[in-house]
Amino acid sequence: MKLLSVVVPCYNEEEVMLASYERLHTVLQGLSAYRHELIFVNDGSRDRTLQLLREIAAKDPQVKVLSFSRNFGHQIAITAGLDNCKGDAAVVIDADLQDPPEVIAEMVKAWEEGAEVVYGKRHVREGESAFKLLSAKYFYRFINRLADVDIPLDTGDFRLMDRRALDAFLGMREQHRFVRGMVAWVGFRQLALEYDREPRFAGVTKYPLKKMLRLATDAILGFSNVPLRLATIIGFLTSILAFAGILYTLYAKLFTEATVQGWTFLMIAILFIGGITLLVLGIIGEYIGRIYSEIKRRPLYIVSEKIGYGSGE
Ligand code: UDP
Ligand code: MG
Repeated sequence: MKLLSVVVPCYNEEEVMLASYERLHTVLQGLSAYRHELIFVNDGSRDRTLQLLREIAAKDPQVKVLSFSRNFGHQIAITAGLDNCKGDAAVVIDADLQDPPEVIAEMVKAWEEGAEVVYGKRHVREGESAFKLLSAKYFYRFINRLADVDIPLDTGDFRLMDRRALDAFLGMREQHRFVRGMVAWVGFRQLALEYDREPRFAGVTKYPLKKMLRLATDAILGFSNVPLRLATIIGFLTSILAFAGILYTLYAKLFTEATVQGWTFLMIAILFIGGITLLVLGIIGEYIGRIYSEIKRRPLYIVSEKIGYGSGE
């Protein structure tokens, strides 16, 4: 019998934990042709999430729990769950029931028909702020213009991966992880499955603007060197302007009496060039920061507790 792993990242999800487990459990029971394991990754929650997960794991031997020593973020939590799963295929799904667990059955069907990655494509999104919808829409289009890979539009992290694609993905150990982009990069036979995204079952989003911006930065810098090239282009254009400025200065010096009034021009030039230099340095700094964090080769996460795993697993 094939084994199906389901990975659920959880951060302060006490309001949804039980309901989420119940629905996943029902769906997985329905897939009776498969054995399954349900892996919850507690991403350093500060509420009762871990306690609830302990209770669930105590009752259900198919449930496993990985608990982080602190909050490492959604993308890392997903990675940890996938690292620690044994399935012939693995599904990643949010804890908040925005992605209906029932869709997993359809994903499994597509997998049996030969797809190696089945990703959920959001059809309708209820209960999301206009800002989130709009920013998501333009973000995906923007990143696709910049990125070296085609990242499918309107997809999140709800997807099924076959063992081959999964192992390829897990071979990428970079620190700044934009999982949906990395899975797209891996290739294999990928299939989109449209579904309706529901409102959050309970609780509030764990993705405040700050985390969204960080994810967006990881996506852009992780998959594109365009910002670096932009630095070069801006630097080049500024140099041309500066050269024209030098010619003008010389002309003013040699052929007019107006040199003292050149103060305005001088100030503008200094400020302008200073500003551009800082901008370009900033962009370069972003990449250097990434080189630094990659070079440290830190572990991606620290598991403080493993529940439901046998010894040696
Ligand atoms: N999540 C996580 N770590 C974080 C933030 C979020 O594990 O630092 C989990 C969260 O518990 C949920 C999933 O990632 O299962 C998606 O988060 P959320 O639903 O809050 O994001 P949204 O759907 O609002 O984009
Ligand atoms: Mg959500």
